[in-house]
Amino acid sequence: MAGPSARTANSRHVVVIGAGIVGASTAWHLARKGHRVTLLDREPPRALTDGASGGNAGLLSIGHYPLTRPGVSMRGLKWMFSRTAPLYIKPRLDRELVSWLWNFHLHCNKRHLDRCMQVLCAMGWQTLEVLEGMLEEESIACDYARDGWLDVVMKLENMAAAEHEARSLEPFGYKWERIDGDELRRRDPCFTRDVAGAIHMKDSAHCAPNDLIAGLLRALPRHGVETRFDAEVRSFRRTRSGAVTAVDLANGESIGADAVVLAAGVWSDALGRLAGVKIPMQGARGYHLQFDYPADNPPPLPSTGMVLHETFVAITPMRREGKQQLRLAGTLEIGPLGQPWMRERLEMLVKGSVSYLEGLDRLKPTSEWAGYRPCTSDGMPAIGGVRSAPGLYVATGHAMMGMTLGPVTGKAMAEIVSGEKPCFDVAMLDPSRFG
Ligand SMILES: Cc1cc2nc3c(=O)[nH]c(=O)nc-3n(C[C@H](O)[C@H](O)[C@H](O)COP(=O)(O)OP(=O)(O)OC[C@H]3O[C@@H](n4cnc5c(N)ncnc54)[C@H](O)[C@@H]3O)c2cc1C
Repeated sequence: MAGPSARTANSRHVVVIGAGIVGASTAWHLARKGHRVTLLDREPPRALTDGASGGNAGLLSIGHYPLTRPGVSMRGLKWMFSRTAPLYIKPRLDRELVSWLWNFHLHCNKRHLDRCMQVLCAMGWQTLEVLEGMLEEESIACDYARDGWLDVVMKLENMAAAEHEARSLEPFGYKWERIDGDELRRRDPCFTRDVAGAIHMKDSAHCAPNDLIAGLLRALPRHGVETRFDAEVRSFRRTRSGAVTAVDLANGESIGADAVVLAAGVWSDALGRLAGVKIPMQGARGYHLQFDYPADNPPPLPSTGMVLHETFVAITPMRREGKQQLRLAGTLEIGPLGQPWMRERLEMLVKGSVSYLEGLDRLKPTSEWAGYRPCTSDGMPAIGGVRSAPGLYVATGHAMMGMTLGPVTGKAMAEIVSGEKPCFDVAMLDPSRFG
């Protein structure tokens, strides 16, 4: 375990807003470069591990496609009025939503997808090494395993489509294997006889995300990071030329900074606008249900993380606090932030999984959760400095890939703030691209 890194002549005071996986990783890498870092989050520490970066499915799936894929916008429109569709857009007359949807639709094409994948794969291929370095250095136990994930297919006629999707990732170097039903059950007896088979995407990993984020937040003070919770940023102080020099908190305090990194997840858009940067974002809410495995006569436990091909439910085994648990996560629900939960969408998680897994109907959920994926209208994160507001940097918009790509984003942000070349090309991710 390392102590605080030595400050250098180039050390700066950097304020990072948001202690999710993106902000916490950024703070860690900045501190390791010798900067003085203050990490602010409006939530208390306990609630933080229950945020999006704790409650997600924990699949660190490199090579994941962005949301903007050909056909997705049209499918979304078709599903718009069904409260139990995998992607549900709450119908409402809202200029921001209409403009976001239109821009999203314009980006659902093959050319854009190919460009996205170049960048996402460059990030993906580095992020697990970056994360593994952080876990090892900080001795963070979060049930991390680099064992890939399974695309589990119920209907035989869907195997070809699943195989086609896996094959489309081959040019990016990803390895996969087709496993037919009987062989799948031989390797992993948790699957029912109805399951036709699976595609094993071999290069990914899974973890217990609550424990990862909790471990990372615990590690930060050891590197000299000042972590401040219950600290809500309300506005920015700017010079006449627009440079950001301080943030103002809800309690009236002002914290001066040489640089400010905005990593506030889905709330980054509203905050960014206060400093003149627009990152059109919709919060795509998802849910999880967590189950404890009984000590007596437990059903067979899946050996790795998976996504159910027909129902889009992600299922991840997790060992937490000495207990074996299973997390069912998923559904995409685009609507205003802070609305009451749609219970039928929570129920979809179980309904969409029971026919795939043996004995799931015998388990009782021990907790339920909802959180927001920060989704930009072009499906890509916003990472980099803001031209119109010198001193302000943005790292957000990772949608369904934030847990996976957060660690490498943190590394790149620390490089950018330090004036170094980032470890992947961020040209396409310019936060000012939305105008
Ligand atoms: C159901 C579900 C399943 C998912 N599964 C996966 C998965 O398997 N793999 C994967 O890679 N990703 C997954 N994701 C996506 C992933 O969880 C997110 O992309 C990621 O957590 C976003 O991290 P973040 O740090 O950008 O934002 P957050 O984790 O949302 O953190 C932002 C922080 O900013 C703070 N904040 C906001 N406003 C202010 C303010 N004014 N002042 C101070 N602090 C503020 C908030 O309190 C919050 O703690 C999933 C998401 C969901 C919902």
